[in-house]
Amino acid sequence: MKIINFLYPTICSNCSQPWEYLCAECKKKLTPHPEICPYCHTFNKFYQTCFTCKNKKNSHLEWLMIVFSYDKILKNLIYKVKYFHKKDIANFLAQRLYLLIQTNQLLQYQTQVLKKKIIISYVPSHRYRKYFVKWYNQSQIIAKKLASKMWRKFVDIVKKSKKTKAQALLNKDQRESNLINSFEIRKNLSLKWDEIVIIVDDITTTWSTLNEIAKTITKKYPQIFVRGVVLWRNNK
Ligand SMILES: [Zn+2]
Ligand SMILES: [Zn+2]
Repeated sequence: MKIINFLYPTICSNCSQPWEYLCAECKKKLTPHPEICPYCHTFNKFYQTCFTCKNKKNSHLEWLMIVFSYDKILKNLIYKVKYFHKKDIANFLAQRLYLLIQTNQLLQYQTQVLKKKIIISYVPSHRYRKYFVKWYNQSQIIAKKLASKMWRKFVDIVKKSKKTKAQALLNKDQRESNLINSFEIRKNLSLKWDEIVIIVDDITTTWSTLNEIAKTITKKYPQIFVRGVVLWRNNK
């Protein structure tokens, strides 16, 4: 046994049972997030942007799927993933993301009847540099796992074009202006008109980052649908 396993034994982050970071029983207790419009947060089927919000100037996401509500179990689990980078937890989160996407009937219609092709990308970020070496990005890891589960292409679409202040320190308006034009499409990349881009983010308090990425993509490719998926919503 490695010393690290001895110092940090594998136990459930919620009930402390041995062998798993989240045991089967606690996995069942996680709360699925209700289907809401990402902008006004009112109930809307398939997590679509509602008609009213779609017509607003700064709404760029077609929809935003949210896997879990942020509860105590998830909070404990996330602490473990972020600070100890456990592979099996990343796998579990990617699996739940996959199930939510696979069971979305609107998306099924668009891929099976309209023959749209899904490609998977992520939010590039240095938000975690405080805790990890620079190349580490949780959203990228989960997006790659998701793409392989779905047998879809994983594509690096945007990169940060300017250094921004940490979003957590800013209020909602400041967050939005902090992000304006902060992403650019990678060179030598071309998207096709029949593609649906799904952007994975692991945590969001507001959707400003995902919205800004969707804006960057649709500015160059107005015909492309950009969707977001997040693992949970932290509505503090
Ligand atoms: Zn447990
Ligand atoms: Zn709305």
